[in-house]
Amino acid sequence: MNEAKRSGRAELLDGATVAGRIKQEVARDVAQFVIEHEATPCLAAVLVGDDPASAVYVRNKIRACEEVGIRSEHHALPAATNEIELADLISSLNRRGDVDGILVQLPLPGEIEESRIIEAIDPEKDVDGFHPVSIGRLSMGRPTFVPCTPAGIIELLERSDIPIRGENACVVGRSQIVGRPMVQLLLQRDATVTICHSRTRDLAAVTRQADLLVVAIGRPGFIGREHIKPGATVIDVGMNKITDEATARRLFGAEAEGRLETISKRGYTLVGDVNPAEADEVAGRRTPVPGGVGLLTVAMLMRNTLRAAQLRRGTD
Ligand code: NAP
Repeated sequence: MNEAKRSGRAELLDGATVAGRIKQEVARDVAQFVIEHEATPCLAAVLVGDDPASAVYVRNKIRACEEVGIRSEHHALPAATNEIELADLISSLNRRGDVDGILVQLPLPGEIEESRIIEAIDPEKDVDGFHPVSIGRLSMGRPTFVPCTPAGIIELLERSDIPIRGENACVVGRSQIVGRPMVQLLLQRDATVTICHSRTRDLAAVTRQADLLVVAIGRPGFIGREHIKPGATVIDVGMNKITDEATARRLFGAEAEGRLETISKRGYTLVGDVNPAEADEVAGRRTPVPGGVGLLTVAMLMRNTLRAAQLRRGTD
């Protein structure tokens, strides 16, 4: 048993290291692709409006492209863009032979209907895995582009030798981008899966049965000791900003000082959906926030983009 467990603390799963390894593998395979095809895989990122968080996400994705040798294009459109104009851009990107992946940063502003825009993307270029064709294939257990966050969680579990087959897994949250595809991926790997949501009765009684608990609800520190089976693996997908000292003290216990410093410097600190101080008392392993699932998401987007290039240009 390692030091963390002996001292009564959950072992931290290192998303940063796993994400770094995935990006190294992608960089190696991109270099090989360039030699074989005399062309570079290309991701087109589309950002509509001026939401600062969305701009940061797109910037991080473009930076990751640079790291692994994928070419990227940043299409920044004004907030006043209408659905027809955006759909026109998507169709032109669909038609271009040199573009392998199309990413439309969500949420979209104004009156634009997200589902219509997602459906306008050619499923061969759907590197986010949000198109109904990709979702349908995933639910049938067929190969497809898998949404990046749940795909990254599976990589983290497998590369950390955490068993999935036959385990009781519980996913809290049923979004299209995390909860639902997570359920499919766990099911494909023979876990016994329960899915919970805001209408679940006695949530803690259900989550306490889980050997593997994945939480994606967008509620800072909501999952506490009463929700966690002793020794369970807890994957915290949540990314929430907190700004007040009292909440930071409640959630980070003995480690609150560093977080308070971050709040005074930046105005906020990031916290997941799991109360880290309480999870440390009960869980066997958990992902930290930041440094857990978030970094894996971008790494998997790189892998999906390479895969799109390989499938479109005939390496596979
Ligand atoms: P979402 O669309 O915000 O939906 C939240 C889900 O949680 C819904 O299914 C909702 O149930 C459920 N829920 C809300 N309150 C609940 C409660 N008290 N008990 C049980 N279930 C509850 O979800 P999301 O987009 O997956 O985002 C979830 C969190 O993950 C957010 O903090 C987001 O920022 C983060 N996230 C992180 C990454 C990453 O890369 N790290 C990626 C995506 C999302 P109903 O369906 O009944 O409303």
